[in-house]
Amino acid sequence: MQWSFAKRIASLNISIIREILKLLEKGEVISFAGGIPAAELFPLAQLRAVTDKVMREEGKEALQYSITEGYPPLRRFLAERLRRKGIKAGIDNILITNGSQQALDLIGKIFLDPGDWIITEQPTYLGALQAFGFYQAEFCGLAIDDEGMRVELLARAIERVNPRLIYVLPNFQNPAGVTLSLRRRSQLAQLALARGIPLVEDDPYGELRYRGEHLPPLKALADENTILLGTISKIITPGHRLGWVVAPEAVIKKLVMAKQAADLHTNSFSQRVIYRYCEQGYLDEYIATLCSHYSRKMQAMLEAMQSYFPPEVEWTRPEGGLFLWVSLPAGLSSSEILPAAIDRGVAFVPGVAFSPDRRSDNSMRLSFSSASFAQIDTGIKKLGQVLKDWLAKTHSANTT
Ligand code: PMP
Repeated sequence: MQWSFAKRIASLNISIIREILKLLEKGEVISFAGGIPAAELFPLAQLRAVTDKVMREEGKEALQYSITEGYPPLRRFLAERLRRKGIKAGIDNILITNGSQQALDLIGKIFLDPGDWIITEQPTYLGALQAFGFYQAEFCGLAIDDEGMRVELLARAIERVNPRLIYVLPNFQNPAGVTLSLRRRSQLAQLALARGIPLVEDDPYGELRYRGEHLPPLKALADENTILLGTISKIITPGHRLGWVVAPEAVIKKLVMAKQAADLHTNSFSQRVIYRYCEQGYLDEYIATLCSHYSRKMQAMLEAMQSYFPPEVEWTRPEGGLFLWVSLPAGLSSSEILPAAIDRGVAFVPGVAFSPDRRSDNSMRLSFSSASFAQIDTGIKKLGQVLKDWLAKTHSANTT
């Protein structure tokens, strides 16, 4: 049988991360590749208790079909939490989604026609490139530095590509770990408001701040223009697949139609379990546990890099989140280095995976969230040696 698929399928690339996972099956490899939460910290006892309670007290409702918008008490809880961050959201501004990945897909569905442009950071979240790529979007990546997206480049980019959306990760960006400064948040919000461009603010990591002060969300600075995405994946569990969109009602209405067509509604049982978990007051306590654990891991990785990495290499020092971003000297390709690293027993994600132009590759993403402290030290030592060997090899190739 010769299958013939829709045109939009032709342009899709295989996920680089999935390819890496295949390589990892080869043997004992320390992986800094996946950005997955530390499963040993999952609050199993509390989740078991609230799951049991839901089954006992509201089992029939929890296992029945429910409304597309999401479980009202959970939306009310989220609205209240958002108000504390300066966001004026009511329950009608919130749609519960199957993780924030689904929110990205639904946004693509309601906003993008083939060939529409999206301005993103360079680098940006791979899953957003995949989700928007399905709708045949074109990407314009703006460089980042320690203060996040270089917003001074935005006005010209807007002139050039006339974007349908600006997609931005203001807190501890995936993959680079950087945070958009307050000054740039205000500039970005002002520009979006003045030009009438929707901002998609993707914020799975904002609660995982290890030092410094929380900054106001873009949603609080440019309310009418901003679609804010949140998720429990990094602050409770990814397996419940629970995320949310906060947006003006006109946008929520369209997203609800798109979601109805996709899956009718998010898992009612998960929504009630997570609502009960939050209502019991477990959430903030658990976030504090995560912050203390992850900040020690991040520190361990930064210290190991300081000890073992060659001086030609640079990296970010994030204030939160799960990722560090390593920049190699120009001309080096981390995709080429990856097989050598895996042979030595350590893995990372090459920068090209996060590159909207699919070209920039002299960088790598390292995640410290699921490796043990011992693995962090051993893995970074191995990676440091691979980088030193690679630099020596390219240096001698250039001089002979
Ligand atoms: N956005 C970003 C920036 C992410 O890093 C992730 C998960 N890695 C997601 C969205 C999707 O998260 P989920 O669907 O699990 O909520």
